[in-house]
Amino acid sequence: MQKDDKTAACLKSFLYPDAWFPTGNKQTEETKAAILICNGCPIKRECARMVIDSLDTTYPIKTGIYAGIRLANTHSGDQGGAAGLRARYDALRKIAEMDTLA
Ligand code: SF4
Repeated sequence: MQKDDKTAACLKSFLYPDAWFPTGNKQTEETKAAILICNGCPIKRECARMVIDSLDTTYPIKTGIYAGIRLANTHSGDQGGAAGLRARYDALRKIAEMDTLA
């Protein structure tokens, strides 16, 4: 979730911000709604880039939903372990590198 861009769809949505930080491993209706909102977000690409850029910092983003991709569960950290997290970063990398005209 991007908090500093007023065009972010998550900031305009009817969902509570917690929807982007699911605590269980289940795919709830709220989680699905957050992912759908991300998929229509005008700054989806920038959001994915923010996560990828964080990997070079002291505090890489490891939890939450960004650009429609759910990273690890906020509390258990379990979404397929390290391999699952790597696959999700790869998916975010692809979104971040998408051509905006495509
Ligand atoms: S892609 Fe999703 S999490 Fe990122 S700014 Fe847009 S709505 Fe928020």
